[in-house]
Amino acid sequence: MSTVPGGDAMTVRYHRNGEAEVPEHQARPRPVAWSIHPADAAEFAADGLHCETRRCRNPQAVVTWRWWRSAEVGKVLLTEHLVCLEHGQQFAARHHTEVEPPPPRPCSSRHGRSR
Ligand SMILES: [Zn+2]
Repeated sequence: MSTVPGGDAMTVRYHRNGEAEVPEHQARPRPVAWSIHPADAAEFAADGLHCETRRCRNPQAVVTWRWWRSAEVGKVLLTEHLVCLEHGQQFAARHHTEVEPPPPRPCSSRHGRSR
């Protein structure tokens, strides 16, 4: 049974594994940040999650994606963080972008995340 690898990474918005692969020939995408849907944010808060920035205990409000090339595996990997509004805006400012609006509908309803 073979499945087609890759190609759909950008259609999946929450990667709790924290990594996704980009084909080697593809340029590294720009960093991106967008607001978490209120329903998702409420669910994350109910799970006891908070901003992933060190020492910050604010509720999660923004998802950030940053792409980086791993010399170890020779691929572009995706690092995802869920942060508060303030740190999301700082991320966006640092990368000369803006926090995008939330998706039209909630993305999560995926319990059992490892952290
Ligand atoms: Zn924060």
